[in-house]
Amino acid sequence: MADYRAPIEEQLFVLETVAGLADLATHPGFEDATPEMAGQILEESARLAEQGFAPLNAVGDREGARLSGDEVTLPAGFAEVYRDYVAAGWNGLSADPAYGGQGLPFALSVAVQEQFTAANMAFSLCPMLSLSAIEALQAHGDEATKALYLPKLASGEWSGTMQLTEPQAGSDVGALRTTATPADDGSYWLGGQKIFITWGEHDLAENIVHFVLARLPDAPPGSKGISLFLVPKYLPDADGRPGARNDVRCIALEHKMGIHASPTCTMALGERGECVGWLIGKPHGGLAAMFTMMNHARMNVGCQGVAMAERAWQDARAYAAERIQFGPIIGHPDVRRMLMTMRSLTQAARALVYANAAAVDRAHKAPDAEARAYWKGRGDLLTPISKAWSTDIGIEVTSLAVQVHGGAGYIEETGVARHYRDVRIAAIYEGTNGIQAMDLAGRKLRLDKGAAMEALEVEMTRDVAGWPDGLCRTGMERALGHLARARAAILAHDEPGAGAAAYPFLSLCGGVIGSWLLGRQAVRAGGMLADGEGDPAFWNAKIATADFFITQRLPLALAHIDAITASPEQLLGASAFPLA
Ligand SMILES: Cc1cc2nc3c(=O)[nH]c(=O)nc-3n(C[C@H](O)[C@H](O)[C@H](O)COP(=O)(O)OP(=O)(O)OC[C@H]3O[C@@H](n4cnc5c(N)ncnc54)[C@H](O)[C@@H]3O)c2cc1C
Repeated sequence: MADYRAPIEEQLFVLETVAGLADLATHPGFEDATPEMAGQILEESARLAEQGFAPLNAVGDREGARLSGDEVTLPAGFAEVYRDYVAAGWNGLSADPAYGGQGLPFALSVAVQEQFTAANMAFSLCPMLSLSAIEALQAHGDEATKALYLPKLASGEWSGTMQLTEPQAGSDVGALRTTATPADDGSYWLGGQKIFITWGEHDLAENIVHFVLARLPDAPPGSKGISLFLVPKYLPDADGRPGARNDVRCIALEHKMGIHASPTCTMALGERGECVGWLIGKPHGGLAAMFTMMNHARMNVGCQGVAMAERAWQDARAYAAERIQFGPIIGHPDVRRMLMTMRSLTQAARALVYANAAAVDRAHKAPDAEARAYWKGRGDLLTPISKAWSTDIGIEVTSLAVQVHGGAGYIEETGVARHYRDVRIAAIYEGTNGIQAMDLAGRKLRLDKGAAMEALEVEMTRDVAGWPDGLCRTGMERALGHLARARAAILAHDEPGAGAAAYPFLSLCGGVIGSWLLGRQAVRAGGMLADGEGDPAFWNAKIATADFFITQRLPLALAHIDAITASPEQLLGASAFPLA
């Protein structure tokens, strides 16, 4: 397996061309986020990713997290590298400077996370969960709670978890039963059991802050009756330091297909009747708080798809150059097809996720309310596509990496099988990809009657009209016609019809938006070539990658139009098997 090398040149180019980094740096608070500064940050984070996180990937997979009593330990080396991560301030990159963060754009933070994830996905989940916890607390916490917890979370000294899932409440979060009973002093007593809690217990941070969904005694049934609570592992003492142990404990660890170094915990809350928590946000307002946390986490999970695809592509390219069968296998057209597929899918997914993160940045920082609302619509629209489409790509590309390795790919020593096993979960957690498709087609599109999607189509059409004649432009013009038809079809479907057409719709959207963002990069690369600037090999590869994607992959995405416009009877296959 090749050593991981962070693709800094590519990351910076996407940040500049797709996320519009130079423009982002003109927004108040983002002045430091110049392309030069971004380059320095990515160089620094790459060093820790390559030299700290990556060497622990194999041992983490082999040994995994271990439970002894109610304590979870990680293999040797994890605690030291986490300490380095905290010391360098990586956790607070995009957190509010008022609480010790650096206030840099989310788009830049996503690029940094891509590196840590590619280096070691299981490990990177620990900080990733903390970042979502920070988002939720920043948006919904009161001042005193923020002052106490945010600096510790932003520094990474304390880590965060998200506790939603219970045995009977997976996708249907509203079915959860954990209870919260008011105490006399304004706090709450929590009681219940949560399952599948990522990094729910570990020995890397001095405290763990759990964000738990539970029901108040007067809660209405379903998702309208859930509230968010902050439940620390150690209750902070008068000086804000970890004090008495709270009654929230890990009682089991799951044995999983991948991400073995990420402890997936069953958590018991209040087994001794002494689990203390504090309400975050309004009573029964847990859903809104949860969405803040989940939207953020969903983009980060989309980024996991990108990161693992990049890692797998690097390994496959290196192996294909070395392996001799009838000559170096990299010379065989079918191997080149696989490598180009991997490369173009990875770059398309990266562009989408960075564009999504930049839309979220503009939704917060754009100067006027109208612009902020526009970008919020864009960010909300892209989030389920980033999550589902990019993680599907992560799975496809890691699977192709196994294929490029032949039999060696199926053998654990090679390391590529691990990427495939690790990334598989990304299509399941943070809302399965099926739930993302429903969010896109059933919720986002219908709530505004397709307005945000139409606005995106207008922007794409305007952009493409300025492109030079060529493959990218012709392909995109056809694609935009399909997207408009698909949007209209989803809006015309009844609810079950839209549900059945949702996944094909999401896949079509991903293909079209991915093509647009790759085409945009190719156009810029063409300009740089014409001007004689930069590295011609990089620009030529950009153009070849966009051409490949638009000619080979876009037609597959567009073929979903038949499923999207099918009748509800065809879509649901109602006559093929009886529905219970
Ligand atoms: C390794 C790992 C880590 C995790 N980490 C966390 C964590 O940190 N915190 C946390 O709270 N949870 C966590 N989870 C839980 C995870 O979020 C859930 O597993 C996920 O949301 C799916 O729920 P489920 O497993 O109950 O599947 P189910 O909800 O039972 O889904 C089964 C199938 O039915 C489909 N389905 C369900 N409802 C619908 C619907 N309405 N329409 C269409 N299709 C539907 C799903 O898409 C899926 O294909 C983790 C899980 C794992 C395995």
